[in-house]
Amino acid sequence: MRIVLLGAPGSGKGTQAALLEQRLGVPHISTGVLFRKAVKDQTPLGQRIKTIMDSGDLVPDDLTLELLEERMNRDDTKSGFILDGYPRNLAQAESLNILLEKLGMPVQEAVQIDVDTEEVVARIAKRAAEEGRSDDTEEVVRNRMRVYQEQTAPVVDYYAEQGLLTQVLGTGTIEEVLQLILSVLDQGEADRSD
Ligand code: ADP
Repeated sequence: MRIVLLGAPGSGKGTQAALLEQRLGVPHISTGVLFRKAVKDQTPLGQRIKTIMDSGDLVPDDLTLELLEERMNRDDTKSGFILDGYPRNLAQAESLNILLEKLGMPVQEAVQIDVDTEEVVARIAKRAAEEGRSDDTEEVVRNRMRVYQEQTAPVVDYYAEQGLLTQVLGTGTIEEVLQLILSVLDQGEADRSD
């Protein structure tokens, strides 16, 4: 199963993607996680992107695509993937389309987790206290939300136009949201085998 998960920062995408990885047995691929690892390991890429990430802006598309392409070329994606944090703008959505067509594994489902802004801000404040991510300060979170509205929200429409999008309400418990997503995926699978 090849899935793109969409949602604002703090919508629970990462949490759900990790659970889906266990349930579905396909890898969870998060560009945010891959970038944070590059920063932590102080690779050449990590050194270039640290300041950008700390400001809440997007890493340039060419660097992001390179990282993604390298990850997608690994064998484990043959069984499928859950993509989290990519695509984040329309150019990335188009690049992803081209890459996946080339690999013969197009996206089958795009699921957007919908949570209102106030809830999202409260969740991130809590995560900041627990995990200490350097981009979880209030000012940076505000910038990440702005980036999401301006650049990532159009990606939702992009998948809607292709008939691939389903929205689920992300305000229930983690287990409730997981069940909603699983039922969307079941339905999609049933439709595809019609
Ligand atoms: P969240 O969804 O909680 O905002 P992520 O862990 O997905 O956080 O991403 C953290 C940061 O990593 C982003 O603010 C951005 O700087 C960088 N990043 C992650 N994915 C991408 C992407 N697809 N394109 C550009 N930058 C990205």
